[in-house]
Amino acid sequence: MKSPIYLDYAAATPVDLAVLAAMQPYFAERFYNPSAHYLDAQTVKKDLEQARSKVTAVLGARPPEIIFTAGATEANNLAIAGIMHQYPKANLVVSAIEHESVLQPARHYDVRLAPVGSDGLVDVLALEKLIDDQTVLVSIMYANNEVGTVQPLKKIAALLNQKRRGRTADLPLLLHTDAAQAANYLDLHVARLGVDMLSINGGKIYGPKQSGALYVNRRARLAPIIVGGGQEQGLRAGTENVAGIIGFAAALLQAQSLQAKEVKRLQTLQKLFLDLLKATVPGIVVNGSLRQRLPNNVHVTIPGTDNERLLIQLDEAGIVAAAGSACSAANTEPSHVLAAMGLGDAAARASLRFTIGRATTAADIVQTVQTLAHLVSTTI
Ligand code: PLP
Repeated sequence: MKSPIYLDYAAATPVDLAVLAAMQPYFAERFYNPSAHYLDAQTVKKDLEQARSKVTAVLGARPPEIIFTAGATEANNLAIAGIMHQYPKANLVVSAIEHESVLQPARHYDVRLAPVGSDGLVDVLALEKLIDDQTVLVSIMYANNEVGTVQPLKKIAALLNQKRRGRTADLPLLLHTDAAQAANYLDLHVARLGVDMLSINGGKIYGPKQSGALYVNRRARLAPIIVGGGQEQGLRAGTENVAGIIGFAAALLQAQSLQAKEVKRLQTLQKLFLDLLKATVPGIVVNGSLRQRLPNNVHVTIPGTDNERLLIQLDEAGIVAAAGSACSAANTEPSHVLAAMGLGDAAARASLRFTIGRATTAADIVQTVQTLAHLVSTTI
């Protein structure tokens, strides 16, 4: 049987075979606990630190600034709770289109939601108005997981710099970004971005799931959320997931080295996808900015259709895509991201997300659009 056309790379990427090979020795042969004192364990510790150096090279960071975590959810929770725990009376600002792993921890504190425009981009002027003297943290995702919009992070970093200079209160004003969807395609250099904290994960970059890191600079002093054996400078206790960390670092380096070529290739495929959709599916609407967008995201509303039904029909035809969100699998509520962009429930329920990746070909896209056009013409 032919394997399906996979168009859900924002939800999960297959582990690259070279990444898998790099991880393999750490399951059985080099299984040692890196905190143990004998030589074999110390060799594993060295390998772990080498993985950290690879991550620092991509981010332009220093080794103590990298905390390995079990994915981006944990990194986001650590960034939000780790800072807000230190300043319980302060407030934070996050965008209305953040992933739930930012929104939910933020709701434990005095949180203000920065709106987005109908293009899915954070409104920087409105964000500015939400920041006051008691704001210690601003968390804005680098790229959105549903509509693929790339947020104006550098502009926000410049705004925070300006606010910091005018501050009288003895409180930090930190910028965190969730870069889970960005790492394959965008610059991750933290100084160029102007961020204090950045979350990344392996599961979106052809590495293992439940692997990732939080970058934290000196300005951001965190409290841990997982305590115990004191690993990762006391900020993330628990015996290190060595194979996961090795795989994560290998995947990150690989993603960076493939980035320029892959971005170009995907941009061409994305354009083909959008052009074909517009030409063959009547009334189709593309959601989110086309200028500030990940090269792998195609998010559309097809008025009068039901996305759940269409997804099942596509699946039966051998094409795998998604509705709203990748990560809240059990949630059947209309997407908070589309709602923040001003789409009503009916439009949200008529929306589909296609995310392309390393194995996607032009033939896959042609077949997908033909199938979708046929399904829509027999539905409406
Ligand atoms: N943040 C964003 C933007 C995501 O798309 C996801 C994942 O799906 C996450 C966070 C959560 O990442 P993880 O599954 O590694 O915890």
